[in-house]
Amino acid sequence: MRIGIDDTDSPAGMCTTYLGAVLICRLNEAGINVTGQRLIRLNPNIIYKTRGNAAICIEADGDPDTAFRIASACIEELAEFSEEKTNPGLVISETALPVSFYLQAVSGFCTIEEAEAVCHAAGARFRKWKNGRGIVGATAAIAAEQNDMTAEILVYRAPNDKGVRTVDKDSLFRAEAETFPHTWDTVDTENDCIVCFPHTPDPVIFGIRGESPEWVTKARSYVLSQEPVLEIIYSTNQGTDAHLIDGEIASLVDGCSYRFTGTVSDTPKTGCGGHVSFLVTDSSGEVRCMAYEPTKGFRDIIRALAPGDLITVCGSYKNESINLEKIHVITCAEIILHRPPVCPTCGKRMTSDGADKGWKCRRCKTRGDEPDIIRESRTLSPGWYEVPPSARRHLAKPLCRGLPPIGRKERQSE
Ligand code: ATP
Repeated sequence: MRIGIDDTDSPAGMCTTYLGAVLICRLNEAGINVTGQRLIRLNPNIIYKTRGNAAICIEADGDPDTAFRIASACIEELAEFSEEKTNPGLVISETALPVSFYLQAVSGFCTIEEAEAVCHAAGARFRKWKNGRGIVGATAAIAAEQNDMTAEILVYRAPNDKGVRTVDKDSLFRAEAETFPHTWDTVDTENDCIVCFPHTPDPVIFGIRGESPEWVTKARSYVLSQEPVLEIIYSTNQGTDAHLIDGEIASLVDGCSYRFTGTVSDTPKTGCGGHVSFLVTDSSGEVRCMAYEPTKGFRDIIRALAPGDLITVCGSYKNESINLEKIHVITCAEIILHRPPVCPTCGKRMTSDGADKGWKCRRCKTRGDEPDIIRESRTLSPGWYEVPPSARRHLAKPLCRGLPPIGRKERQSE
């Protein structure tokens, strides 16, 4: 059977991954054999989310009624019911749920009714608390199937411990140095900061992401921290780009995330707050792309783009602009500047003699009809560029995992 749980935490505490880890212990104690556990991230733009829109799926062998009773009791004991936005959901299914429901939940939107219909059709047991919205994530976590999966080890303190986390910074940098690129986003070396622990009062001390249980276990062995109460390794869809839809500009839907190819159609500008924006055009339309201030050095790459550059962009479409996660610079356009010609007599640049009248040397009165054509050298080279670890979304695939597949339009242009 698969057991799905979601929507148990609040900004004030708890974490569904912690509740899942506790539930696994209780199931095992009751003789239900847990064979695997998955941390499934869903659409990162969902307004109902507390933090990273995570849901949990536990795979187990045993009596589903007993599992249902234990899981319900665990949710009732640990979920943050006092928070208005916490609406837990529990699903237990003995048969596979349609992968299409997961794909809809990771890249789009689902209703509570749709989740219930999926559960009814599969004969799954389910329970909703309060408005029961958690049934969406719980159902999607059970339905999730994809070949590309990564791992995360999560290390917990007691849920009532809301103090400052004590983790040795140097040990985290060592863990990264010893295991990158097989683990990622433990620290942000470029910006000298720690990425792998939250700044919210939840039970996670730190989490390390990587290719496999072996690699995250190795990285974890270097980390010195306060005494944990629990540790678990989840198989996860984090770092896989599962949220991206291949699309074109005319088909963008607010709250979904896309990968599409187009041409830069204006010069990037740095606006208020250090956010950088530019327009990109494809055969279907034009859209604004944004690299926000927290993306730090990535903005320098964006500032180096020029009109005519052919790029693939990856990011979420919200409020009529794409929030960039990474870009592929496919070709850099030549930047051609027209400057007044140099006077052959005195060597000074001429000045304009009026609209469409050519140029004239003020001193020598020499005339010139053709401008100097200057090909400006580009600082940007073709290739993939991404936001730093400190600004990366859970689902975004880091480039250290390998370059994303080349799309049809990119192939045509090569
Ligand atoms: P938690 O640790 O509790 O999982 P979170 O940041 O992951 O915290 P939730 O508190 O679970 O966020 O809130 C997300 C809510 O949105 C859940 O009720 C979940 O069922 C629902 N949800 C997730 N994805 C979708 C979707 N694609 N469409 C509609 N609802 C969704």
